[in-house]
Amino acid sequence: MLHSPAPASPTPRPAALNARDLVALEDRYGAHNYHPLDVVLTRAQGCWVWDLDGNRYLDCLAAYSAVNQGHNHPRIVAALVEQAGRLALTSRAFHNDQLGPFCQELSELTGFRRVLPMNTGAEAVETALKAVRKWGYKVKGVPEGQAEILCFSGNFSGRTISIISFSDEPQYRDGFGPFTPGFRILPYGDAAAVEAAITPNTVAVFMEPIQGEAGVVIPPPGTLSRIREICDEQEVLLIFDEIQSGLGRTGRMFAWQHENARPDGMVLGKALSGGLYPVSAFVADDALMDVFHPGDHGSTFGGNPLGAAVARAAIRVLVDEGLAENAALMGERFAAGLADLKQPSIAAIRQRGLWIGIELWPPVGGARTYAEALKARGLLCKETHIHTIRIAPPLTIQPAEVDWALEQLHAVFEQLD
Ligand SMILES: *Cc1c(COP(=O)(O)O)cnc(C)c1O
Repeated sequence: MLHSPAPASPTPRPAALNARDLVALEDRYGAHNYHPLDVVLTRAQGCWVWDLDGNRYLDCLAAYSAVNQGHNHPRIVAALVEQAGRLALTSRAFHNDQLGPFCQELSELTGFRRVLPMNTGAEAVETALKAVRKWGYKVKGVPEGQAEILCFSGNFSGRTISIISFSDEPQYRDGFGPFTPGFRILPYGDAAAVEAAITPNTVAVFMEPIQGEAGVVIPPPGTLSRIREICDEQEVLLIFDEIQSGLGRTGRMFAWQHENARPDGMVLGKALSGGLYPVSAFVADDALMDVFHPGDHGSTFGGNPLGAAVARAAIRVLVDEGLAENAALMGERFAAGLADLKQPSIAAIRQRGLWIGIELWPPVGGARTYAEALKARGLLCKETHIHTIRIAPPLTIQPAEVDWALEQLHAVFEQLD
């Protein structure tokens, strides 16, 4: 029998698990591939999240910029619920009534003609890498198997084997070889190195316009536009990974707009769904995207109507609520409030929009201590590498919340230094 009848006297419900029990369960049954801060969250709204004991925290990580629109944005939740009750997944064997409008709206937002939807960021990066390689062979005339892609030190673009093949972070690679060939790593922000590294087999420069995981590392002014020129001169494609930097985070819709260095293709993810569902995409113009023919590439869930409906709502919220503009304004307010933080422990503060990296000196394991002290004061953030505190709240944050966050940061620096 498939369904057993309800027992005559129902077994008593077990007492709700407390935070310690839940952390222990994760530890006991989950793989140990993360080291989270010691807080168990159970609900959220806008910029704020709550733990099991009812403590409230300002979320200054925003799920690595996946919740730029704020947690549980009502318009995105409504789109998710409505679509989930109607049609969630068709596979791409059939058409659905959300994919076309999603592609159109993302094309209009980005200014790129074509959209190839995937799910996670790493998949969209893989899609971009496949596209530029195939373009190299079919359009540029690079000999089969010889395509080269130029990448940069300190990069982070995901965790697949091909993506970690161009990482220079030892921990991300240790034990995972053999690696995918065809990548060359250059110093980040060094346009001259790009020019010198290009060969007839170079198909693309693949780059984060600002590096997030590296600690909000901003290339020297003019770098993006100079690399754009070099790529044009040498018949090399320029692809930006805007998974974390894009969709309003830096105060512009896309980080490349700060230098008007329009790439040939762009990878998006994270906030493309406002955090409610994994949606990513590779966007490009026809000349590049036309390398894909039916059957060349795909994904069971990529372009599904549920994800497409959620992403459509997430895009509308970004635009209607002027979140890139708010990121620019609130980012300036944040930067001004940090400027008078003259602690000897701070080596540098980097900021673009609502993306702030506070680099500590000396660079020895300090950032986590600060993240823990901030947590105790109700501000959640996460160290990146060991020496940088990254502040990246939802782009819906308001002046009073920025001021409150600044108070906590000042207090923690005073307490720890
Ligand atoms: C998060 C991130 C990725 C990977 O996205 P996943 O959804 O975790 O696979 C790729 N590139 C950048 C810049 C990112 O921040």
